[in-house]
Amino acid sequence: MKKKVALLVTILTVLSCQVALAASGITKVSSLNVKISSESNKAHLAAAIQKVPVLMYHKIAAVSSKTDGLIIGQSVFYSQMNYLKANGYTTITMDQFYANISKRTVLPKKPVLITFDDGYESNYTLAYPVLKANNQKATVFMIGKNIDKDRKSLTSKQIKEMDANGFRVENHTFNHEQLGKLSYASQLATITKAKQALEKILGRKVTYIAYPCGSYTYNTIQAAHAAGCTLGLSTDVGLSSKADNPYTINRVFIGPLDTLITLQHKLNYGI
Ligand SMILES: [Zn+2]
Repeated sequence: MKKKVALLVTILTVLSCQVALAASGITKVSSLNVKISSESNKAHLAAAIQKVPVLMYHKIAAVSSKTDGLIIGQSVFYSQMNYLKANGYTTITMDQFYANISKRTVLPKKPVLITFDDGYESNYTLAYPVLKANNQKATVFMIGKNIDKDRKSLTSKQIKEMDANGFRVENHTFNHEQLGKLSYASQLATITKAKQALEKILGRKVTYIAYPCGSYTYNTIQAAHAAGCTLGLSTDVGLSSKADNPYTINRVFIGPLDTLITLQHKLNYGI
């Protein structure tokens, strides 16, 4: 509903701009200029409603799991990535997505953002080779405390390699707490600790966060902002666009029950 209102406001703004121009006499221009103006308005409107499916994955394994809703088989993942490629989707980076939201840059046609939560080792061993083979981009949101500590999670060496080759690594807090249940101070601490740990490994700023289990409150948004994060990804369902709050970006869950048909539906409708 909010999105419909935002779209309506955009349309009304464009229309009111046209009325204002007419009233000021600026409409006395050549027909060529009028044509260009009308085409640029059309492009503006198209850009204004550009929707992005932000796909959310977790673990990849040799085969999909029938019991663990977070595990997808490598061949299934491969077929999904091939589907995106064959159907003209462009896997965009978090930086491209952020530029679209903050600076209103236009994204390529059929943009899609591939994300992974938690930072499982299988992201490196099974997802990364698929993405590399297809020349596709993705982002993994890493739990800080697991780096070089948990044997099923990514190591700092793997993180560094992936990050330099199109599979960027971003913040998923240090302890993987449900942020909405923590005090403001504790939220700020876990976000900042993970950010610093990743920045030390990567040698660059880490400014995007995915909230563990999608848990957030108004305090979370404040804490993410105070820690220097510029985008916050939730697990709220739906497509995303620059009309949304940059700290409550929707995502589209992909699990072992998904087929190419449900993937297609989710890409189009976010659910
Ligand atoms: Zn998580």
